[in-house]
Amino acid sequence: FVNSTEEFFKFCKENEVEFVDFRFTDLKGTWHHVTYMMDAVSAEQLDNGLPFDGSSVEAWQPINKSDMILKPDVETAFLDPFTADPTIIVFCDVYDIYKGQMYERCPRSIAKKALQHLSESGVGDVAYFGPENEFFVFEDVKIKDTINESYYKVDSEDGEWNDSTDYEVGNIGHRPRTKGGYFPVAPIDNGVDLRAEMMQVLKQVGLTVVLGHHEVAQGQHEIGVVFGDLIEAADNVQKLKYVVKMVAHLNGKSATFMPKPLFGDNGNGMHVHQSIWKDGKNLFYKQGEYGNLSDMARHYMGGIFKHARAVAAFTNPSTNSYKRLIPGFEAPSILTYSSQNRSASCRIPYGAGEKATRIEMRFPDSTACPYLAFAAMLCAGLDGIKNKYEPIGPMDDDLFELSLDEIREREIPQMPHTLRGSLEALIRDNEFLQPVFTKEMIDIYQHYKFETQVWPYEARPTAFEF
Ligand code: GLU
Ligand code: MG
Ligand code: MG
Repeated sequence: FVNSTEEFFKFCKENEVEFVDFRFTDLKGTWHHVTYMMDAVSAEQLDNGLPFDGSSVEAWQPINKSDMILKPDVETAFLDPFTADPTIIVFCDVYDIYKGQMYERCPRSIAKKALQHLSESGVGDVAYFGPENEFFVFEDVKIKDTINESYYKVDSEDGEWNDSTDYEVGNIGHRPRTKGGYFPVAPIDNGVDLRAEMMQVLKQVGLTVVLGHHEVAQGQHEIGVVFGDLIEAADNVQKLKYVVKMVAHLNGKSATFMPKPLFGDNGNGMHVHQSIWKDGKNLFYKQGEYGNLSDMARHYMGGIFKHARAVAAFTNPSTNSYKRLIPGFEAPSILTYSSQNRSASCRIPYGAGEKATRIEMRFPDSTACPYLAFAAMLCAGLDGIKNKYEPIGPMDDDLFELSLDEIREREIPQMPHTLRGSLEALIRDNEFLQPVFTKEMIDIYQHYKFETQVWPYEARPTAFEF
């Protein structure tokens, strides 16, 4: 891993690199790339940037203003573990040559601006983010089978599937029952070697991997990696998704981070652990308070809850996101906090100690573009600190047991139930984002989401409605 342009070329030489793969992230969080011959890349180019067509990326530039520049961040360079020939991947930011500044629709640049906002606010000097991206691994033959089962069948009392499709495709033997995946050993957990391979490759590309395990749902997994500052953590999400999908793919399977692929079983979250530090001290820690949380941590949470409906447009940005946020599947719908409690939107991991005390926002999912999601939460949290917003809570009961009447009577705020709901909240409530997101960016974003996701989705009859 390199620290300068000089070191970059030295590293490439040592590793006999033949190709340089420049990557940037769009509004959806999708990674795009362009590959240069090593010989064609100069130090000057790395400094000045590389041209590309900004009009061919969704919701970016119009055709008559299409020339944009990629600004490589050489410190992020790492060897692609999957290419046949030695290739080095470099994260890039997008630069707007017309305005002579960062491109206001470039998520990674927005994330950098969010960090600047943090330091300018005087609140702290670093914000740590620890995302947990859950995923499913499907085998082609099982996809149809599993979807059919989950739509139409219920498992019997002993947990075996009463399903004729088992016979049609051949009985595929040991597997977890619904919500039965946490975490019996092999052969029920048949992802042991696949996860091990993913963990090794993740380590190879520079992530500090801690653990891997089968998750609660059938075929669901999680790999735990160490947190980082906002940019590093978001870069790591991009790497993790790439590695997980590629390792699955090379093993003839397909991995998905989709929030709710199966009706009736747990979905995939991207819980995000967060804390703010200054001068090497964790500002979220105060011994003796509830969850050992400082006032600042509580206000940060208060800010996220206050703006959560708008924030969700970035943390839960797909129509499918909202199928996960329903009671009963360890994903939250109620905007309150609690120590230990996995039914609340924010959990405070119990007994974490001074260094590790943090909050865990549980509503985000991996359809989020990590740069935008982290930046939006940071903006909301900082607004909460500034205005001393108090979150509702703590609520230590099983919140999945609350009836809708009780939620209404006690006026407990909830997450939106649809993407339309979160986008409409974003249209009304976005001032807190404006130190970092431009008004134009927010406007483009909500239009783009309505046009490409909300309307096409709402217009389609579904199997359930028949
Ligand atoms: N899969 C659950 C979710 O959708 C979370 C399970 C856990 O607590 O790790 O958020
Ligand atoms: Mg999990
Ligand atoms: Mg978690």
